[in-house]
Amino acid sequence: MSPSPVENQLQALTDLYNSIQNARHIPRDLLKTAIVSNALPLAAPSLSLYSQQLKDIAQTLRSDTVQTALRAALESAKSDSQNITNNVRRENRKRRRPPSPESPQPYIVTERQSSSLFLSSKDDITPLKNAELINYIRQFNKEHSLCKLGIWQATRSAGKALKNPTILRFSIKDVLTAYITVSYTDEDHPLAVESVTAFGPRERKLPHSQSDYAVFRTVSQFFGRMIHSDPLVGLQRFMTLLCSYESMFTTRCDKCQRVLSSEGHVAAVERVWNENTSHWEARHVSC
Ligand SMILES: [Zn+2]
Repeated sequence: MSPSPVENQLQALTDLYNSIQNARHIPRDLLKTAIVSNALPLAAPSLSLYSQQLKDIAQTLRSDTVQTALRAALESAKSDSQNITNNVRRENRKRRRPPSPESPQPYIVTERQSSSLFLSSKDDITPLKNAELINYIRQFNKEHSLCKLGIWQATRSAGKALKNPTILRFSIKDVLTAYITVSYTDEDHPLAVESVTAFGPRERKLPHSQSDYAVFRTVSQFFGRMIHSDPLVGLQRFMTLLCSYESMFTTRCDKCQRVLSSEGHVAAVERVWNENTSHWEARHVSC
């Protein structure tokens, strides 16, 4: 009769336990050296032996068999931990060792939490690909009267072919101009917004320079933080943020309800996505 899965798991854990117990005989100083140095001098055969022993333990600990067994043990202890006592270290009690680290625990796969400040679960916009960019710009300009989007070119003779990255020029009449750098890894992948720089509406500056006005430099810094929170943010989503600046100089801050901050008298240049209202709320940097 072949052993049951539980017996197999017990065996795997017992083997692991025994190999850890064996490793306890490695002299303390050698143990430290063996952990620190992977490249071992040939003159220290015992050291390399110990090192191999530790590597084997690490490998066993990471193996599917042991991880499954550890997970099963954890579940089992959770559901009924009565009558489980830990007396395996009884024989060491008199030797006054420093406390041993806890028993190995199974690795817990933590769910990747999104840190995106663009987070929105309600809309499901299909990210834009490079081939769709021109149509998107046309459609965007049809739907917006104050905002304008176009492709920026360093020179008039730069040709019509889209480059990678592409720089877009976005403007809100009398409010601001922004240069948006979008790029893609290959044609099948969506465009990601790489950087956005804001300028005053009448400033004549190159996309990679910075505004002479503190308020637009603050806006640029804020855009940088937003992109940092979601390096793959798509163009459409970023455009909703940019459009929320239409009344940048007259919008009240959602926190203090003032247009200009009491500190420094700056407009509410930051935006916070409100999932409930599906709107970007204005905030002062200092609020
Ligand atoms: Zn405020």
